[in-house]
Order: sequence, then structure tokens, then C-alpha cells
Amino acid sequence: MTDQTAYKAEWHRRKMDQIKSDPEAYEAYLAKSRESTNKHRAKIGKDGVKKENDARREYKIAWAKNNRAKLKATDPEGYQRLLDKDNAVAKKCRDRRGPEAKLKAKEATQKWAAENPDRYKETKKLESQRVRAAVFIAYGNKCACCGESRWQFLAVDHINGGGRKHIQENGLSYGSKFYRWLSRNNFPEGYRLLCHNCNTARGHWGFCPHEDPSRDKELPNPPRVRRKRNVNSSKEYTS
Ligand SMILES: [Zn+2]
Ligand SMILES: [Zn+2]
Repeated sequence: MTDQTAYKAEWHRRKMDQIKSDPEAYEAYLAKSRESTNKHRAKIGKDGVKKENDARREYKIAWAKNNRAKLKATDPEGYQRLLDKDNAVAKKCRDRRGPEAKLKAKEATQKWAAENPDRYKETKKLESQRVRAAVFIAYGNKCACCGESRWQFLAVDHINGGGRKHIQENGLSYGSKFYRWLSRNNFPEGYRLLCHNCNTARGHWGFCPHEDPSRDKELPNPPRVRRKRNVNSSKEYTS
């Protein structure tokens, strides 16, 4: 949201709160808005009303499809409805075309990939980038421990451990296959983003020094730098 949109929304929200706090004023507001709606509807006629409603519905659906992460955060039920609808359409399509069609499509893709290796590689790359972006956005787009937000440093972490086991059991691998699995399963709970630093620290020591600096003493001592003894200039190092 731009600053201006946010400002307008805030202004409108305050104005509405003010009106709603006075029942009489609120009733008058509703009456006035009903009246203007009716007037507008009378002007555009029955067909016009239908057209407007259709346009509104279409806009809402298009918005929901393009703003899945936002929808999931603000309206989980609506998000679920959208998913159910998508899945129903996909299933209907699959059922109608049958298993042979699936095989045929796969073969066609493989043939095309063999004939256009460069374009296939490029398409795959873009697709996995898109999936990864969706996964990162869904899980907050930054390290849950230190806030690192450069994607080059980030990876999805299984909060209660067992990430490796889960990946093996589901025949996945780290990276794009796992991201696709998360995306297909609607970004399930129990995962978070961690940067490689915070992730490795947890793997090594069971906690990240960011979490609790007072536990630093549990960590091994930092390696000491031993200078090579240089006979000629040993005086410089003796103090
Ligand atoms: Zn981190
Ligand atoms: Zn950390």
C-alpha cells in the first residue's frame, strides 16, 4: 500500500468510527447511503446493476488470485474457498481428460524439452524462482531469528526438526522440490525462514547466539590465531 492509500484508509476508518459511535448519526448515514445507492441503481437499470455486480465479483476473484499471501493473512476462510474452487476445477479437468491425457501431455513436454533444451532450462529456472518467491513471502520473507532479508542467505527450516527425515520420506530434495511441496500444501504451519548463519548455529550448538547472548559461554572458544615465530622480528611480537 502506498503512503497515500494508507493515509486515506486510516482517515476513512476514523471517520467511520466517529459516525458509528453515535447511533443516530449512523442510522442517518446508512439511510443516506441506501438512498444514493437506490438512486444510482434506478438510473442504470436492472442490466446495469447486474453488470456492476459481475464486474465487482470478477475484480474480487482476480485480486484474490493475484494476492494469495495477503488473502491468506487477512481472510483465511476466503483463501480456503479459493483453494477449494481451484482444486475442484483442476480435478474436474483431470477427470474429464483421463489418465492417458496426463501421460500424453507429459510425453509432449518431454519431447519439447529435448528439442528446446535452452528454453526448457530457462522455463524451469523461472518457475522455481517463482515458487521460491511465493514460499519466502508466505513465511515472512526474512530470517525468523536475526531478520536477514536477502534471499541469497535464506532457507526454509523445519521448526521442530526432522526436516531431513520429512524430505526423505516424501521423496523430495532440498531446494525447488521441497519449495514446490510447501506451495502445493498451502504453506503448512511448522516451518519458518532462517538465514544460513542462524540455521547452522542451531545445527551445531542447538541454539543461535542471537537468541540468548548469555549462553555464549556454552559455545566453544574462538580459535586463537597463532603467529608464526619470525626470528628476525620476534621482538615486535613479544609484548
Ligand atoms: Zn538469521
Ligand atoms: Zn540467529
